[in-house]
Amino acid sequence: MIALFILACVCMLVTLLFLVNRIILQVTYDYARQFAANSANALSTHIEKELRFLIEAAGSQAVIDWFSDETDKVKADLAAKELHDVVSRLYSNNLYIGLQNSLYEYSVPDDPVQESMQLVDKLSRSDEEDDWFFSCLEAESDYLLSVNIDHIMQKKRLWLNYKVTRDDEPLGVICTGLSFSHIVHELFSHPSHTQIRSLIIDDQGFVLMDSNLLEDDDFLYKNREATLYDSLSDPLLLAAAEGYLAQIDGYSTDSRNPVMLRPSSGMYRYASITPIRLTNWSNVVLYNSSPLLRMSEFVPAMIIILLFLFIFVLVIHIVSYRLIFHPLARLIDSLSRLKENHQERLYGIDRQDEFGSLSQTIDDLFIKANYDALTGVYNRRFMEILFRRYMEFLFRSNGYLSVLMVDVDFFKQYNDLYGHQEGDHCLQAVAKAITGSLTRSTDFVARYGGEEFLAVLPNTDAAGACRIADVILDKVRRLSIPHAGSTAAEYVTVSVGVTTGKVVYPQDWLAYIKIADDAMYSSKQNGRNRSSFIDFPPTLEQAP
Ligand code: GH3
Ligand code: MG
Ligand code: MG
Repeated sequence: MIALFILACVCMLVTLLFLVNRIILQVTYDYARQFAANSANALSTHIEKELRFLIEAAGSQAVIDWFSDETDKVKADLAAKELHDVVSRLYSNNLYIGLQNSLYEYSVPDDPVQESMQLVDKLSRSDEEDDWFFSCLEAESDYLLSVNIDHIMQKKRLWLNYKVTRDDEPLGVICTGLSFSHIVHELFSHPSHTQIRSLIIDDQGFVLMDSNLLEDDDFLYKNREATLYDSLSDPLLLAAAEGYLAQIDGYSTDSRNPVMLRPSSGMYRYASITPIRLTNWSNVVLYNSSPLLRMSEFVPAMIIILLFLFIFVLVIHIVSYRLIFHPLARLIDSLSRLKENHQERLYGIDRQDEFGSLSQTIDDLFIKANYDALTGVYNRRFMEILFRRYMEFLFRSNGYLSVLMVDVDFFKQYNDLYGHQEGDHCLQAVAKAITGSLTRSTDFVARYGGEEFLAVLPNTDAAGACRIADVILDKVRRLSIPHAGSTAAEYVTVSVGVTTGKVVYPQDWLAYIKIADDAMYSSKQNGRNRSSFIDFPPTLEQAP
């Protein structure tokens, strides 16, 4: 029973763990995917917003005119007026203008009074800036994004470069630099995202941003050099990322789809790669497994442990049942039956341990309580219990009951002549002879008094009872115990009183004994060593 209960508990626990595991997996999966999509979308929206201003500026006729004739001061002023509105709306408040031979910075100053003076600053152009200028002009698309260090501001910047063209002829570049660190901080360093690691990679697998290093100033100032391969160690994840990068085709974002990955090991359980619109970058989001999810990894181990526990408990249960509970239940049952007088002996426990000796002790106690210590037949107390029970039984079945009172003749003399010890031996031999004379299992003998025995024969009629009385007389005679003090015979003899009646009233058991005793007395008077019969209830003639 307990084993079944434990089995059911184990099954329920395993099912529960499995379900919890599935739910956590699903929730984690959804969350990682959602986070990757949201952050990628937020970043591209940011870029798109800024790009729109650049497109607006690049489409301005004044700007195109100036770009066509960069030395014309009037055109420059006109263009500056057009650009003013755009720059003030830019997130960065700052615009770089690259022309064939010159570089301008256009910023909106904090103090509006100084505006006209500072609107356009002509800068000298380095070789590096030349490279930038020509790579932008030669780029296939109208815009080019790059992330690198702004050495003056000491910040990592996301540069948005837009080509200004006239009749598809590239004239120059307008460029704005967003604080990349600021944007990624905003997007990826939310306190609730401690479970998440996010990387922005370009189409070559170079890491532009790693949320794990957001707080690391070195990384923010460092130019791009780490690749995805340096940043991730999980082979499964890397293989999937490699496959993803391999399918990136130029700047087209259409060919890229979000990819959901399952790393083989490590602390991150899920990864999602999502293309960032308007860029050739992708957002790699690694989602850490929650503690519960990690716990679910121990499900197989837990099942094995539970199984062992189950087997252990089962074995303990079986062993304890066999060794303790079963024998204890037997003892208790047997004791209660003894208490109710439905049996005279204990169901013994034949063992060499505490249970064995307890059972033996209880049995001994009951033998003491029910049997006569000298002769081994029932004692008077137990005889009374049995007698009553038989009376009730015979009353219901309307059966005959015969009672025999057996008394040793001249036993006082025997004791006097041979001593008490010999007297005891004699009593033992007589009891054995009487017991041996009974034929049925329902018959029983009890020691009624000192040298008086009572034989109770249920369902035995008068003839049968008298026959048994004769057998008793004969068996005692044949014991041939010499008795010099007896006038009845040379040997020990008994006198028997027999009575038989139909049980019509279960309470008159004492009357049966009384009549049997009367009959025995009659045998004594008639010379002993004989039996006498009185019907029960006695007729007047038979009554003494
Ligand atoms: P009767 O033939 O009339 O029965 O004479 P009796 O001497 O047998 O009868 P009585 O009742 O006078 O004596 C019974 C004697 O039995 C008295 C007693 O000493 C003896 N006796 C009773 N119980 C025991 C016993 O347990 N052991 C021994 N050795 N003697 C016992
Ligand atoms: Mg007597
Ligand atoms: Mg006697």
